[in-house]
Amino acid sequence: MSDQDPVTSTTQATPGGATLVMKFGGTSVGTPEAMAQVVEITRRTRRDWPRLVVIISALSGVTNLLLESASQAAFGQGSSFYNAEARLREMHYAIAEQLVSDLARRAQVKQDVGHLISDFLNLCQAIAVLGEATPRALDAVAALGERMSVRLLAAALDSAGVPAQYVEATQVIVTDRNFQNAHPDLATTQQRSRLVLGPILDLGRVPVVTGFIGATPEGITTTLGRGGSDYSAGILGAVLPADDVWIWTDVDGVMSADPRAVPTARTIPELTYREIAELAYFGAKVLHPKTIRPVIDAGIGLRICNTFNPDHPGTRLVADREATLNGDVKAVTAIHGQRLITIEGRGMLGVPGVAARTFGAVASTGTSVPLITQASSEQSICFAVPSSATDQVIAALEKAFSNELAQQDIDRIWATDEVVIITVVGAGMIHTPGIAGRVFTSLGSQNVNVIAIAQGSSEVSISLVVSATDADVAVRALHDLILARASS
Ligand code: ADP
Ligand code: ASP
Ligand code: MG
Repeated sequence: MSDQDPVTSTTQATPGGATLVMKFGGTSVGTPEAMAQVVEITRRTRRDWPRLVVIISALSGVTNLLLESASQAAFGQGSSFYNAEARLREMHYAIAEQLVSDLARRAQVKQDVGHLISDFLNLCQAIAVLGEATPRALDAVAALGERMSVRLLAAALDSAGVPAQYVEATQVIVTDRNFQNAHPDLATTQQRSRLVLGPILDLGRVPVVTGFIGATPEGITTTLGRGGSDYSAGILGAVLPADDVWIWTDVDGVMSADPRAVPTARTIPELTYREIAELAYFGAKVLHPKTIRPVIDAGIGLRICNTFNPDHPGTRLVADREATLNGDVKAVTAIHGQRLITIEGRGMLGVPGVAARTFGAVASTGTSVPLITQASSEQSICFAVPSSATDQVIAALEKAFSNELAQQDIDRIWATDEVVIITVVGAGMIHTPGIAGRVFTSLGSQNVNVIAIAQGSSEVSISLVVSATDADVAVRALHDLILARASS
């Protein structure tokens, strides 16, 4: 299975009219007020898009609550999942009380949610007995969040006069068995989506689909990775195919920096596929990085907009085009909680396949490497890994290179203190004279020491590694540069 599995392109006419996929994130469905806003947006949008598929995440905070409870159960802390149970009931029932007016339907939804909460308790008890939470068990627990939220939204939509039907993506998105980070089989998912979603759309109803989850061909629940509901929207958008995918979140689209860290951040009205892919990859949480690929492959539109400011146009994705080659710095992102690992030794020049063996050893720990820096000599290799994986990665490297370490071809393998990867993104930036210089000058003027540099292969980004203590100053300095260039 691969990302390149064939999917029908939207150049083919969509039977029965244009199709829109809308995804609402956890922050858009966290409270009764937010959920009411989702209902209203769906009601209004359906007037223009009668074939409308809605994907939603778990209520804000619920996935964390579920996973923390399961982990604590594995450590024998039974009381935490009973506390979580009460919180889950309170959050979900409040939405049913306020947004499902028909009393019989309300009672039904509360009962359904109650059954899923009982499943949660049973799973946690089983985990507590076993004393371990396997990735498969954690996926079964995490999936409950979306399974509860779709039931609520479908009932709330019905109450508002929008005929809706909830759908568990385990019926639709078929994945491999890579629990917690499953990979979809797009060809099978396409068949299933037409089989399951097609008839609902044909009846004029809105399918409300769980984000984040899928299932193996045998039907075992998997998840697509944290924040993966965006990816669900990309997958379903590509396979249906939809004409457009709209990601509804809690900010006015993709911004020049994370508005939580930089209050002066501004919406970027248009971004190219490559720019948004780079931004997402380098830490802009607003979009899960895997969302882009299926959308590009299927050639469909993507928009990111704000549930709480629905008239704001947000950000639109546009095709990579010539005009952007004279681009500028558009945004700055940060990936926190990293460390740089260096393998160094003068004898490394003669060691065959060092890079392949290095990354083979890292991969064997299941760790992904967001950045590799180029050394001018072949005497060292340096790359970033999440701090939490450092000890495991170093142990794997020491094992892989035990002979070279004994013979001192490799002198040492070591990790820095915590660092942050800061990335500036903008198509064509690298070809625009003077920009890289300004990036470094603005950091230098704030006394930020750049530990390492890497240039994105797609030539739309430059990444800089700085110490964790310099990160906020660095992000703000680079954002000031963006604002200064925009106004000049
Ligand atoms: P959702 O629940 O809708 O999936 P997320 O919390 O996953 O929402 O993503 C939205 C958040 O992404 C915003 O609240 C914002 O803090 C963060 N974010 C990080 N970088 C950016 C950026 N460049 N532009 C917009 N938002 C960003
Ligand atoms: N609920 C899932 C999570 O918190 C998926 C998502 O929100 O996109 O990771
Ligand atoms: Mg998200």
